[in-house]
Amino acid sequence: MKSYFTKGWLRVWVLAWLVVAVSAGHAATTVEGARIWPAPDHTRVVFDIGAGVEHSIFALEKPARLVIDIKNVKLGADLSRLELGGSPIKRIRSAPRNGRDLRVVLDLDNAIKPRSFQLEPNQQYGHRLVVDLIQENQKALPTKDEPVLQDNAGSRRDIIVVIDAGHGGEDPGAIGPQGTREKDIVLSMAKTLESLINSQPGYKAKLTRNGDYYIDLRSRTVLARKYNADLFVSVHADAFRTPQPRGASVFALSQRGATSETARWLARSENRSDLIGGVGGVSLGDKNDVLAGVLLDLSMTASINASIGVGDYVLKQLGGVTKLHKPGVEQAAFAVLKSPDIPSILVEAGFISNPREERNLKSSAYQRRISQAVFGGIDSYFNSTPPPGTLLAYNKRQAQNLAGGQYRIQRGDTLSAVARRNQTTVNELMRHNGLSNDRVLVGQTIEIPAS
Ligand SMILES: [Zn+2]
Repeated sequence: MKSYFTKGWLRVWVLAWLVVAVSAGHAATTVEGARIWPAPDHTRVVFDIGAGVEHSIFALEKPARLVIDIKNVKLGADLSRLELGGSPIKRIRSAPRNGRDLRVVLDLDNAIKPRSFQLEPNQQYGHRLVVDLIQENQKALPTKDEPVLQDNAGSRRDIIVVIDAGHGGEDPGAIGPQGTREKDIVLSMAKTLESLINSQPGYKAKLTRNGDYYIDLRSRTVLARKYNADLFVSVHADAFRTPQPRGASVFALSQRGATSETARWLARSENRSDLIGGVGGVSLGDKNDVLAGVLLDLSMTASINASIGVGDYVLKQLGGVTKLHKPGVEQAAFAVLKSPDIPSILVEAGFISNPREERNLKSSAYQRRISQAVFGGIDSYFNSTPPPGTLLAYNKRQAQNLAGGQYRIQRGDTLSAVARRNQTTVNELMRHNGLSNDRVLVGQTIEIPAS
C-alpha cells in the first residue's frame, strides 16, 4: 500500500491535476498517451486524445521526417519514453505551436508513405489519432507467390493453411473479466497451431500476423491469396455481455455474405484476372459479366461447401476438448471469410467473457489442446478429400494402388475420374477389365491394377 504514495506517484497526480485544470481553462484537449505498433510493412503510431481533433500531416525529405500538427491540444505525455525498436522512427520531438496547437516531428530512417485517421473509443482506449507509416518498398497488394501446378499426378506439394490471429495492436478484441485480451490469446493459439501444422509432413502453415499489430480484414484475405492457401483459419475468442455463455463455435461464410461479395468482385474488374475459380483455374478476366457472375457464384458455393465440410470435422474434434456453443457449423458474413476461392473458417475457441473459459483460454496447456483439435479436424478433412497435386493426394493414391483390388462404380463416377484417382489411364482400365468402351454403370465392379 505505501508504495502508492512515493514521490513519483505524487508528481503524476499533481501533473494530472494540472493537465485537467489547464484543459478546462482553455477548452483544449490533451494528448494523454501514445503507442507504437511496428508491423512488417508499416508502423502504426497512436495518440490517445481526449476527444476528436483537427489535425494535418506532411512528410519532408532529406532527412526524412513526418510532421504531425494537432489543433488545440496540449501534450500530457512523455513521447521521448516511447519504445522505437522495430519502427523506422529514430526520434520523436514535439513543441507547442501558435499558443494552442501541438507539433510532433518524427525523425525517420527512411522515406515512408503517411496515412492518418481517427478512431472512436473501444473497450480499451478512448478517442485516438492514428498515423500509419507505410514502408514504400512494400507494395500494398502483395503479388501472388509462385503458382503451383494443380493437377500434376506426380507432384507432392504441401497443403497450405493460412492461420489468422484475430484483432491485434489497437484492437484488443474481447476482454475477459480478469482483463485477458482476445488478441493475445488468439496470437498464442495461432502460433501453437502453426507449429503443430508445420511439424506434420504434407502441410505448411503461414500466419497473417506474428506480432501485436493490426491488419485490416481485407488484407488478411489478400495474404491468404498471396500464399496460395488451401485453407484459411481465423482464430478468435467470443464474448457476451453476461458471463454464462460458453463453448467453442466454428463459422463459415453465409450465403448473404457470399452474394454481396460476388457483386463486389464483379464490380471491381481488376479483381477478375486475379481470381482463380475453384479447381482447374478459371480466370474471369476474359468473361462477360453474366458468365463471370455464374462462374464466381459456382466458386463461392464450392468454397462455402468446402468450408462447412472442414468446419464439421473441426467442430467434431473440438467437441472432444470443450463444450460446443452450437451443435453445427454456423454461417455469418464475416469479412475475413469472403475469399471466393479459398475455403475459410472462423474458430471461436471459447467465451472469454465466461470466467472459467477465460482461465482456460489463458492456459497454454488448454490452448494446445484446442490447437490440436483444430488441426485434427483439418487433417481428417484433407485426408478424406486431399487437394490435387498434394502429398496427401499422392499418398492416398499410393495406398489405393498398392492395395489394387476392386472398385464399385458410384453415382457420378466416370471411368476417366476413376482412372485419375488411381493414377492410371482409361485405356489401362479398359484393357485390365476387358472393356470395349469407357462407359460404366453404377454398381459395376472394376479391377484396379496395382502399380
Ligand atoms: Zn474476435
